[in-house]
Amino acid sequence: MKQTLNVWEMTLSRLDSTISVLDLKPGVIKYLREPRRVLEVAVPVKMDSGDIDIFKGYRVQHNTNRGPAKGGIRYHQDVTLDEIKALAMLMTWKCSLVNIPFGGAKGGVVVDPGRISKKELENLTRRYTYEIINFIGPEKDIPAPDVGTNAQVMAWIMDTYSMAKGYMVPGVVTGKPIELGGSQGREEATSRGVVYTLLSALKVLGIDATNLTVAVQGFGNVGSHAAKILYDLGFKIIALCDVTGAIYNKKGIDPYKLSDFIKTGSLVNYPEAEKFDPTKFFETKCDIIIPAALENQITAENAPSVKARIIAEAANAPTTPDADPILKDSNIFVIPDILCNSGGVTVSYFEWVQGNDAYFWSKRKVNLQLRDIMENAFYEVYDFSIKRKLDMRSSALALAVSRVAEAMKLRGIYP
Ligand code: NAD
Repeated sequence: MKQTLNVWEMTLSRLDSTISVLDLKPGVIKYLREPRRVLEVAVPVKMDSGDIDIFKGYRVQHNTNRGPAKGGIRYHQDVTLDEIKALAMLMTWKCSLVNIPFGGAKGGVVVDPGRISKKELENLTRRYTYEIINFIGPEKDIPAPDVGTNAQVMAWIMDTYSMAKGYMVPGVVTGKPIELGGSQGREEATSRGVVYTLLSALKVLGIDATNLTVAVQGFGNVGSHAAKILYDLGFKIIALCDVTGAIYNKKGIDPYKLSDFIKTGSLVNYPEAEKFDPTKFFETKCDIIIPAALENQITAENAPSVKARIIAEAANAPTTPDADPILKDSNIFVIPDILCNSGGVTVSYFEWVQGNDAYFWSKRKVNLQLRDIMENAFYEVYDFSIKRKLDMRSSALALAVSRVAEAMKLRGIYP
């Protein structure tokens, strides 16, 4: 039977199967399954044509037992409330796994940002911010960039929030431009974290990190930086794809040259590689696959054709639950999303700390602290997986969930 790819149901089903390895009371489980707050807003925007358009927006706070809610804002035409709920829950586990004092949240607007002008994007962002303004704040809920949003969007959110307060509140968002209190290293932090966990995986698997080949799906913020960092470390990037299509060169693709090319053309027309069918992307014969686009990309259908030895999940929820056992049977080592891509929220945490202290760190300090946290989290998950004879995904989730449950227990239920 073909599964329906509802990411919320899949996230819950993963939680349910992991929870069985933890000794939790039914009420605690019920609590962990529910988002704390869900806000749906209609965002009216005055378009360049002079007419008004209405966009649907969401902000979901999943759990705030360990600290203020934290999570990105996604602008994409396929955003749904279920997707945002799932991503908010993943943020709770992610922050817990890297042991930073945040809960989980996510926001989204149903819009294709490539199809509206910069002015319309600014109008949309400011009005969306206004609609969720009582929900967010440096001690409440701190947005960050995700698919379709960037440092400029964060600057507009920060400005809108600050105008309403009457003073500048840099701590309301992370992923801001450096000039407005952003952190050094934030832009490439998620990718750097992906690479740190990948290098740790190679170490525990006893794989020599020379001459390894890599395929990266998605060439946006996360995918392009991951490709560049790995290229600098001597990995060979042989396949890349984005929404326009997929390209391959067995001699390797220079991601810096590709980035320059994309400024005026599209990835699929890059002259130093050949095009191939993007639906066959995960069949690429390579050592490492990095999904860095959207969810539900590695499924029961294409998982049997995956030839890589390692999948480093840079994207959120790129693998469906029914693909997990197939990858396990093929002996493919999966670095699960909540571990692999947690470098972004970790440096967001550094940005929040720096903003609160009004004291800013060097890029070297940011990267060293990030490496420390990522390696520590990797080995905690890996040791747990060995001790409990579990796969990496279940281990990451079990560790993360147990910390949130412990915080809930210590705080108790109000009143
Ligand atoms: P982005 O918008 O910068 O890039 C997304 C990329 O995916 C683009 O290259 C786009 O062309 C490509 N893409 C979209 N649809 C595709 C499709 N159907 N097939 C192939 N490629 C497709 O987004 P991003 O910030 O790089 O985020 C990528 C993933 O990483 C998302 O799952 C996001 O939730 C996750 N993530 C991002 C961060 C962060 O700091 N930005 C942190 C943690 C996780």
